[in-house]
Amino acid sequence: MTIESVNPATGETVETYEETSPDDVASAIEAAHDAFRHWRERTFADRAERMAAAAEVLRERKGEYGRMMAVEMGKPVKDGRSEAEKCAWVCDYYAENAERFLADEPADTDAAKSYVAYRPLGVVLAVMPWNFPFWQVFRFAAPGLMAGNAALLKHASNVPGCALAIEDVFRRAGFPDGLFKTLLIGGDRVEEVLEHDKVRAATLTGSVAAGKSIGGEAGRRIKKTVLELGGSDAYLVLEDADLDHAVPVCVASRLINSGQSCIAAKRFIVPRSIAAEFTERFVEETRAKRMGDPLDEENDIGPQARRDLRDDLHEQVEKSVAKGARLLLGGEVPDGPGAFYPPTVLAGVGPGTPAYEDELFGPVAAIIEVAGEEEAIRVANDSRFGLGAAVFSRDAERAEKIAADRLDAGCCFVNAFVKSDPRLPFGGVKESGYGRELGRHGIREFVNVKAVWVA
Ligand code: NAP
Repeated sequence: MTIESVNPATGETVETYEETSPDDVASAIEAAHDAFRHWRERTFADRAERMAAAAEVLRERKGEYGRMMAVEMGKPVKDGRSEAEKCAWVCDYYAENAERFLADEPADTDAAKSYVAYRPLGVVLAVMPWNFPFWQVFRFAAPGLMAGNAALLKHASNVPGCALAIEDVFRRAGFPDGLFKTLLIGGDRVEEVLEHDKVRAATLTGSVAAGKSIGGEAGRRIKKTVLELGGSDAYLVLEDADLDHAVPVCVASRLINSGQSCIAAKRFIVPRSIAAEFTERFVEETRAKRMGDPLDEENDIGPQARRDLRDDLHEQVEKSVAKGARLLLGGEVPDGPGAFYPPTVLAGVGPGTPAYEDELFGPVAAIIEVAGEEEAIRVANDSRFGLGAAVFSRDAERAEKIAADRLDAGCCFVNAFVKSDPRLPFGGVKESGYGRELGRHGIREFVNVKAVWVA
């Protein structure tokens, strides 16, 4: 069996790779476990030296990695370079902070001495998506390896080149052989890896369907999981919002990564009193964005990552329009072999439409009109997802109260666009998943929280 990487801007096959055989998967697991047994004994300072070297590799080669992402999944090349830099940041962040985050914590008991120790689990399987092909992997791998674990990467099948390049980053940085290994396998072979007794845990970033499957398979084998799944982030633009600020931020957040981000703004919830003005300005701002060849430095939006995903997105738009949404911009599949889809704006979106109920993983904005603040909060929470959300208001205190206390989502921002940051935990509630990545919380997901008692 082979795995192909296809350029979504042209439809041409870039390269074909042999799948990793079952024997090679088994050997990789054994090798990762062996590497782990030594790696866990190394000091934090020693691990940090390697992780800082990985950051250097990423910075030095960001141009190459940016082009690779553009060719394999259509990310505008300038965004790919920034993604490589952000990966370097997370490597440095955990190189500098892992020891502090995992320091022993004394406990006040009747023992002569007792404390909580955080120790590594072993080999962790990472099943990752194509949309941020470097970032999604590094935000797991940097804390995971700094905690003393080994990692196996099963990347999305359309980004095998990126998957192998990431393994190479760790090789160049001087990590032990086998400690981080890419397996070129499809989703249908994840169970084969989970089945192995030396694989101790799994992390998935991907769709809800994949989450149900991997969460279920791992649960049946009593293996810990972290699930980072889909989202349909609501941006509440209150009647006193500064639209000069809110509109460009909302549009940028919808169109980031050509609309293919789990924490992209997807639903814009706007009171009727400002809906006409917000919508007009939103459409104008969106119209000004440039779509085209992701290798062209001037373009803001590339193709969608695969044609089948583009076609699914278009179907969601058509169904939403058939059920009453008004199409104000875009909404037509362009001619040509690429997987392009134009920035699209739907207004008057209501319950029962895909744009209201589901995740639209592409450059399609859904504008929902409401009476006021209370209805805006109710609609924002009327979703099976709970990943990110944002509130815009000139009264920052009022917006903060809504963000902190009323919205059922893992990452709630005020007057800003929701983004992941190594210094803060990242993750969702409801069908957006469970567990956290990044920050102090992220590095504690794949550790044995050990109680130590000395009488
Ligand atoms: P996907 O189809 O679920 O694929 C993600 C990964 O899971 C791929 O490696 C895929 O392998 C594998 N996979 C899919 N179905 C599987 C199954 N039944 N069993 C085992 N493995 C399976 O998702 P995607 O289309 O690549 O990514 C888009 C989704 O990811 C969106 O819903 C997005 O919101 C979500 N996402 C979430 C976050 C977050 O942090 N919460 C971040 C980014 C993306 P193959 O490629 O071989 O099928």
